[in-house]
Amino acid sequence: MEFAGLKAIVTGGASGIGAATAALLKERGAAVAVLDLQPEQAGHGLIAIHCDVSDDGSVRRAVKEAADRMGGIDIVANNAGVGAQGTIESNDDDEWHRVFDINVMGMVRVSRAALPYLRESSHAAIVNTCSVAATAGLPQRALYSATKGAVLSLTLSMAADHLPEGIRVNCVNPGTADTPWIGRLLSTAPDPAAERAALEARQPHGRLVTPEEIAAAIVYLASPLAGSTTGVDLAVDGGMQALRLRPR
Ligand code: NAD
Repeated sequence: MEFAGLKAIVTGGASGIGAATAALLKERGAAVAVLDLQPEQAGHGLIAIHCDVSDDGSVRRAVKEAADRMGGIDIVANNAGVGAQGTIESNDDDEWHRVFDINVMGMVRVSRAALPYLRESSHAAIVNTCSVAATAGLPQRALYSATKGAVLSLTLSMAADHLPEGIRVNCVNPGTADTPWIGRLLSTAPDPAAERAALEARQPHGRLVTPEEIAAAIVYLASPLAGSTTGVDLAVDGGMQALRLRPR
C-alpha cells in the first residue's frame, strides 16, 4: 500500500479512527490534509484545516484549501461523524436534522466539493466510515443507525454513478472501537470499568476493535491495490456482522 505522490483528505482526522487513518496514509507516503472542527488536534506533519462538515461554505473553503496546498486530491476519507442514543420518541426533529446533517450530508458535501479534483486523478477513491449499526437493528440507536444505513446506500449509489469516471467508492463498517468517542460514552456510566468490560465481552472476539485496525481497512480500500474494488462495505467488527450479534 504505497501512496507516494497521492494526496488525501481525512474528515474527522483529528481523533480516533480518522487520526489513525491520517497517520497511516502519511506513513505510507501520501500528503494528508485533516479537515476537522478541532484542527489543532491533528497529528504532526499533517495539513490541518478547520472544517465543519455540516456547513457547505466551510466544506467548500476547506476542500479548496486542501487541494491548493497539496496540488490536488486523489483520496477522500469521509469519516467525521457523531453519535446519538435513544428511540424515535426521545430524539426530536431538530436532533434528527442535526445528526443527519453531520453524518450523511457531511459526506455528500465533502464528496461533491472534491469530485472535480478526483476527476483529475488516475487513482481516485472515496472511503466512507459507516458502522455495523447500518444493518444490525441496534436498540436505542434509531437515529444513529438510520444515518449509517444512509451512508451504506449512499456508498453503493455513488459507486455506480462514479465508476464510469474512474472514481471508486467503498465503506468500512467498524464494530465498537476503542476511540475517544467510546471513552466519552464510558465516562458517563456509573461504573466505567465495568461498562468497558461489558462492552468488550459483547464483541465476538472479546475486545474492542482498535482504530488502527479500521484505519488499515480504510487505507487498503483507498489504495491503488484495491483498484478493482468498488461498492463494497468491509466489516471490521470481530465477526459481529457475520454472527448477526447486536452490540448495545
Ligand atoms: P471521535 O469522536 O474520536 O472522532 C470524531 C472526529 O470527528 C473528531 O475529531 C471531531 O472533531 C470530528 N467531527 C465531529 N463533528 C464534525 C463536524 N461537524 N465537522 C468536522 N469534523 C467533525 O470518533 P471515532 O470513534 O473516531 O468515530 C469516527 C467515525 O467512525 C464516525 O463516523 C463514527 O460514526 C464511526 N464509527 C465509530 C465507532 C466507534 O465505536 N468508535 C463504531 C462504528 C463507526
